[in-house]
Amino acid sequence: MAGTAGRAVSEHKPIRPQWICQGCGAPWPCAIRRGQLMLDYAGSMVSLSLSLASYFVVACQDLAWANAGDLHHRFLGWTREHPAGAVGYP
Ligand SMILES: [Zn+2]
Repeated sequence: MAGTAGRAVSEHKPIRPQWICQGCGAPWPCAIRRGQLMLDYAGSMVSLSLSLASYFVVACQDLAWANAGDLHHRFLGWTREHPAGAVGYP
């Protein structure tokens, strides 16, 4: 059995420092991983935001050439637009 507590480990992990998805090659977090994160953190949007914020900080260092606003939307902004994120977000 893979993972802990019966949860499978996602193949959609970031490859650093490019921050592309190991599973599908899309910019990370890809659409599939975003859906997985929403399920993993269901009902705990603050915890999800804190986790994504930590990724965002590292990505800003790795992708120093990228627009910070674009990175913010990519790592954090999508949670407000995601169907699951619209519910219960403060
Ligand atoms: Zn992916």
